[in-house]
Amino acid sequence: MSPIPEFIDGLKTKLDSLSNAGLYKHERSLTGAQQVLVYAGGKNLLNFCSNNYLGLANNDQVIAAAKAALDQFGFGMASVRFIAGTQTQHIALEDKLTSFLSTQATILFPSCFDANGGLFEAIFDENDAIISDSLNHASIIDGIRLCKAQRFRYQNRDLADLEIQLQAASNAKNVVIVTDGVFSMDGYLAPLAGICDLAEKYGAMVMVDDSHATGFIGTGGAGTPTYCGVENRIDILSGTLGKALGGASGGFISSRHPEIVQMLRQKARPYLFSNSVPPSVVAGTIAALDLIRSTPELAIKVRENARHFRALMVEEGFDLLPGEHAIVPVMFSSEHIAVSMAKALFDRGIYAVAFSYPVVPMGKARIRIQLSASHTFDEIRECVNAFVDAREELSV
Ligand SMILES: *Cc1c(COP(=O)(O)O)cnc(C)c1O
Repeated sequence: MSPIPEFIDGLKTKLDSLSNAGLYKHERSLTGAQQVLVYAGGKNLLNFCSNNYLGLANNDQVIAAAKAALDQFGFGMASVRFIAGTQTQHIALEDKLTSFLSTQATILFPSCFDANGGLFEAIFDENDAIISDSLNHASIIDGIRLCKAQRFRYQNRDLADLEIQLQAASNAKNVVIVTDGVFSMDGYLAPLAGICDLAEKYGAMVMVDDSHATGFIGTGGAGTPTYCGVENRIDILSGTLGKALGGASGGFISSRHPEIVQMLRQKARPYLFSNSVPPSVVAGTIAALDLIRSTPELAIKVRENARHFRALMVEEGFDLLPGEHAIVPVMFSSEHIAVSMAKALFDRGIYAVAFSYPVVPMGKARIRIQLSASHTFDEIRECVNAFVDAREELSV
């Protein structure tokens, strides 16, 4: 007898238990573009949960550049980069990122997930060791799994534990420390200065995934390395085009060692075996980088918005994780309260998402608010008022 019906039944049981545990992810369809004011679930909503940090996802100049590229460069590449998938503007975008990040060379990937997925296996082997922060992004975890290097893990942002792992890895030929620049659930920045000091002491390299920083953190938006004053000490940087840089799709690896980027062009499997970034996305991202250069006010505004929201929420007595990042976790004493609060916010026209175990540790349930340069102070006030109202309604 075929085992297939039983297999499908098994999936159904697992799906039901996800639902029962409140872990089933439902998707809301927006009826229009990604921006502050969206229409979804039958309601007008103020959007406080996208990665559109600089508001460029629906920017006129970015859209115009993408439209012009459709005419000049066509819709799709129908090829990987090394066969017939490289246009002059792919190289132009790589060069622009290199100059934006003050590195030496950059390689585009279909996504940052793919960049991290292809990086490690392409340049490290069983003689090497990778030391990874325990809260690193899923794509880093998967990329490390695909690589034969020895694996070590240190507690989130814990330099003492990092040093223990560096000692444990001392027999490896090459050692690389890998960290997110900004941790997406907490909005905490990696302690890059301390990490670089330890890397120097033990002769290790440093790799930073700056997806939640590129474009708006640090001098000129070059990310956490410049923010922490260690831009010349980071060996490998990855990032996404899918957040602050217009939010379409695509990712990159950038490095001060051109040989690393050269080797990735030869060996990184998502680069070799997956399609080129589409022409309109390349052109739109180039326009986004130009706008970031010519409009430093955008990065200032998202920072101001984060500071303003944090100040108002603290004034109203909410419990926030401290920091400056535009990711602002509002903490609640139980999973149940966080979920009910998100629902009550939705009823009041505020779109924000509750995260609970296992996405965050048990007892650390939260609503994650993300600010954008496009939010006005009035909209931020509206969001805070909704939090206050919702708290009263739920009497928490
Ligand atoms: C969003 C994110 C990614 C994935 O980026 P995509 O380009 O969407 O694949 C990778 N790493 C980190 C840290 C991220 O926040």
